[in-house]
Amino acid sequence: MDKNNIKKQNVYISEEEKTLNWEEVRASFEKTFGSEIYNSWLQKISLVKEYNDYLILSVPTRFFRDWIVSRYLDKILEQVKSFKLSLNRIEFKIVEENKSNTDLVKIDEYNKITEIKDSILNYNRLNPSLNFENFIQGQSNEIALSYSKKVCEHISRYNPLYICGGVGLGKTHLLNAIGLNLQSENNVMFISAERFMYHFIKSIKKNDMVNFKDFFRKSSVFIIDDIQFIRGKESLQEEFFHTFNSLMDKGSQIIISADRNPMKLDRVQERIKSRLAGGLVVDIEAPDLELKIKIIKKKIEEMKNQFKENIDLSDEVINYVANESKTNIRELIGVLNRVIAFTRVHNKILTINDCKNILKDVFSQIKVITVDKIQNVVSNYFNIALSDMLSQRRSRPLARPRQIAMYIAKKMTTRSLPEIGRRFANRDHTTVIHAVKTITRLSEQDDEMKKNINQIKSLLLE
Ligand code: ADP
Ligand code: MG
Repeated sequence: MDKNNIKKQNVYISEEEKTLNWEEVRASFEKTFGSEIYNSWLQKISLVKEYNDYLILSVPTRFFRDWIVSRYLDKILEQVKSFKLSLNRIEFKIVEENKSNTDLVKIDEYNKITEIKDSILNYNRLNPSLNFENFIQGQSNEIALSYSKKVCEHISRYNPLYICGGVGLGKTHLLNAIGLNLQSENNVMFISAERFMYHFIKSIKKNDMVNFKDFFRKSSVFIIDDIQFIRGKESLQEEFFHTFNSLMDKGSQIIISADRNPMKLDRVQERIKSRLAGGLVVDIEAPDLELKIKIIKKKIEEMKNQFKENIDLSDEVINYVANESKTNIRELIGVLNRVIAFTRVHNKILTINDCKNILKDVFSQIKVITVDKIQNVVSNYFNIALSDMLSQRRSRPLARPRQIAMYIAKKMTTRSLPEIGRRFANRDHTTVIHAVKTITRLSEQDDEMKKNINQIKSLLLE
């Protein structure tokens, strides 16, 4: 085949493949993401242009783009790839919506509250599988559990109820269980502080604070998760404080969770801390061995029912998993899932040695890699001061390592984009998105970059 021919063929292939059926893709989005996420976000995406290896999609606003990119992009790409394998990138173009579109006008002009409500329903739905029945009691959580139940019996006796504890210890599970328990007879609002912030900003931008206030203040049970998120955000704290006071005044029950005791919240106004501490503060501690074993056994039961097959783990293996997984229950369940997946695939009863091998990677990854650690390793690797890497200076010898560190933080930790941004001297999440994109692209094109990243990753895993 001569050169010309190959070229022709390539062109032909890309023409041939230019058949992505957008309606089909949308249908698959709806199936994968569920109709609520689809209707509020993904439905508004249109296909602008299709290339062999990437797509240009349009979204109505910058905010929309950032939201979609930070939450759904990976899965979206996975979906479109399932229709056309050669795609490896998606770009977004902001195309303002046609204001004469009647649906939109309706939402914008007449239905502002419904919009907040829909969005709460999308993201802050109570999860039916996080209930009291499957919350297992142990020494570390019995007080928190018992007061969570008491709150359900006597609304506003313990007000606010403040549940604190480290990550993955069951706070969200308890909050959710309270919500489920109370929702049939009360107007329950369950929201994460981060999401509260999202609505707050959105309402300011749209000049719509009246509806925001109304909406949150009409609940009779107000549950807010991860309140530590409001640190440093003065105007949000102000708004939260007023919401809090007005709910307390009318006798609504407030339940709050945080990763620490109210008095230890940093960069939170003193008056807010003392109001938070003014009701009942209970904490959840790290689980002891006994609780971990109970949880493992319960999960195995659940999975047996789910898969309708026998899953056998020896007591030795159960003990091993419980012992190795030291810090939190989310991690424990993650590890257990891996072990069970292995037994199901290989259809065998695990020995302790199999188990050690499976878990070697998991534990090293879970335990070691934090954003701090990534920042240290990357700045050492490039031989620059950590303070310079985090500074606002934009010269390339500092900006590239900074972007690489952000990229690795996204890939190797479970931190969200805004969280990563905050750890890089309070940068915006869009900066992180940009970094991730840039480094993804460079590591595909540039061998030197690929090598650097691999070396840094193995330093982190050492
Ligand atoms: P947190 O909000 O404190 O970070 P979560 O509530 O998200 O933690 O809990 C992490 C995972 O562990 C969830 O899957 C939750 O269902 C599970 N979990 C935590 N504590 C218990 C418990 N006592 N019994 C059963 N599952 C638990
Ligand atoms: Mg939580």
